[in-house]
Amino acid sequence: MSPAEQAARLREQIERANRAYYVLDAPEISDAEYDRLFRELQALEAEHPELQSPDSPTQRVGAIASTALAKHTHQRPMLSLANAFSDEELAAWEERNARLVPEVKKAGYTTEVKIDGTAVSLTYENGHLVVGATRGSGIVGEDVTPNLRTINDIPLSLKGKDHPKLIEVRGEVYLPFASFTRVNKEREKLGEPLFANPRNAAAGALRQLDPNITRGRRLRIFAFTVEVIDGRLNTRTHSELLDLLASWGFPVEPNRKRFASLEEVRQHVDEYEELIAKLDFQADGVVVKVDLLPLYGELGVVGGREPRWAIARKFAPEVAETELLDIQVNVGRTGALNPYAILKPVQITGVTVSRATLHNEDLIATKDIRIGDKVEVIRAGEVIPQIVRPIIQPDFPRGQPWRMPGQCPACGSPTPRVEGEAMRYCPNVSCPARVLEGIVHFASRGAMDIRGLGYERVRQLLDEGLIRNVADLYKITWDQLVQLERYAKQSADQLVAAIENSKKQPLSLLIFGLGIPHVGYTAAVLLARRFGTLDALAVAAREEKLGGIQGIGPVIANSVTAFFNESRNQELLDRLKAAGVNQAEPHAASADGALSGKTYVLTGTLPSLSRSQATSLIEEAGGRVASSVSKKTDAVVAGEDAGSKLDKAKQLGVEIIDEAELLRRVGQTS
Ligand SMILES: [Zn+2]
Repeated sequence: MSPAEQAARLREQIERANRAYYVLDAPEISDAEYDRLFRELQALEAEHPELQSPDSPTQRVGAIASTALAKHTHQRPMLSLANAFSDEELAAWEERNARLVPEVKKAGYTTEVKIDGTAVSLTYENGHLVVGATRGSGIVGEDVTPNLRTINDIPLSLKGKDHPKLIEVRGEVYLPFASFTRVNKEREKLGEPLFANPRNAAAGALRQLDPNITRGRRLRIFAFTVEVIDGRLNTRTHSELLDLLASWGFPVEPNRKRFASLEEVRQHVDEYEELIAKLDFQADGVVVKVDLLPLYGELGVVGGREPRWAIARKFAPEVAETELLDIQVNVGRTGALNPYAILKPVQITGVTVSRATLHNEDLIATKDIRIGDKVEVIRAGEVIPQIVRPIIQPDFPRGQPWRMPGQCPACGSPTPRVEGEAMRYCPNVSCPARVLEGIVHFASRGAMDIRGLGYERVRQLLDEGLIRNVADLYKITWDQLVQLERYAKQSADQLVAAIENSKKQPLSLLIFGLGIPHVGYTAAVLLARRFGTLDALAVAAREEKLGGIQGIGPVIANSVTAFFNESRNQELLDRLKAAGVNQAEPHAASADGALSGKTYVLTGTLPSLSRSQATSLIEEAGGRVASSVSKKTDAVVAGEDAGSKLDKAKQLGVEIIDEAELLRRVGQTS
């Protein structure tokens, strides 16, 4: 093998290892092996200087800049984002846009987590990184090329072929919580001032004069768009653009989604709000972008600064500082051990907060949260308060790092950590904590709605031996209740009536109340509507026929099947039935509905119905919605911008109809 071939092979191995480690989060080789390859390449390049190239991984640590950072003028301005702090503001944004460009309502939207980092621009000439700069004023930034080259996430040369001649890739550089914690610990040891938050630490790391310092901070990046200066791209939508960036080798925000309408975006805002609290980097909202790129020119940019096609839906949480008094562990109804924080009570958004969720042990370790710390707590809307981070005071002695107990705090069962799982579980199905949580969930307002049956009373009924499971609730008598402590005749009357009333709840709420793992309210409604009765669901579950239902993925389907295959669960259901608990769903798909037994596929944007509305119409008429077209498809409902599914339908000769025809078939002619 010639030295040139050897160098090429080493570079390939190192880049591959970098990608596995930084982009895919799945290291393929050990650190020692990586170092060996790296040193081998360095030695080879030292011996054969003609083999050195600016693309080599050895060049990621650039020369030390001797002067202050040079200015860099961006070829296209780096824009900023307007904010929306509520769903109303989000809707108003669309209305304003639709007055300018009516098509915007049918163009679809892409959503990405809004990373709280610092924006950079990376210039690639013929696929090679030539300049990396900070955002600066948006027009002029600082040239930090040697520093950006140390970020292993950033491809020095783009993967694939046929890149436009000159492009500026825009991305957000950030510091994950784990690195932030480490950097601050090191600074603490050196007696240097601590960074207030990961964003400041990232920005500081980027503007170092010594790239070795930047390298040590272990920055990361997500690419979010590209400006083509010379050349062209064949992408029509922003979602395609993000996929293209990923194919070039950039990390792209993994929680990105595409929605057909703003209504669908709004339905998922809460999910993003919950999600960002669990990420290992700081995020403060979700970026919503019009998906169809050809509309961008028409929409334009406000004041040369804020593009109309994008907005940041921020969560505007209220923040407070308080003291973390203790970390305790709660056992959920699935047995999951949930650590939570006991806080010195503090007022946030007008509510006294004394507890906050801590999600899981890894997040506590990553954020380095310790008992006794001063902590920043956020509360946004209905979301449970969260601890954002500890506020580290250099002169303040800290406690020991917290460790998750190895046993269930309720029953003492060992709870080993299963590889690949973030949570630990109590495996004991009769664990008193699990039984208690399960019954409280069953009785809760969102499920069977048995008023007055909260934790305290369920615990009392369990302790008195009156109940052991939810079916036992239906055999409790008034006479038994009045003999209990703290029960007046009136409260016994009320509870008996509430239990009796709960028998009328629709099947969907019964399914939800049973607490089948992974079956939330939405899945329960889908299953109830689809099968109509508990018996029909049980039969389908045992025959493993839950696949292919829109919204019911394999995890849910397997969990429901496992539930119905367990004989103890079937006994429980039989007892509920015998007690007279309703087993039917009022809005079920009728077996004699207009679309009974038919399979439909939806594609493109429909003029008035959202995806989920069209799906429920079809399902309520007895039909099924499949995600792909096959010979078994009865009809494809096609809207605007229909893609490959429409082509496939034409190819297979499947009937193609529009929204108006669908409405006519389900008897909703407008
Ligand atoms: Zn237990």
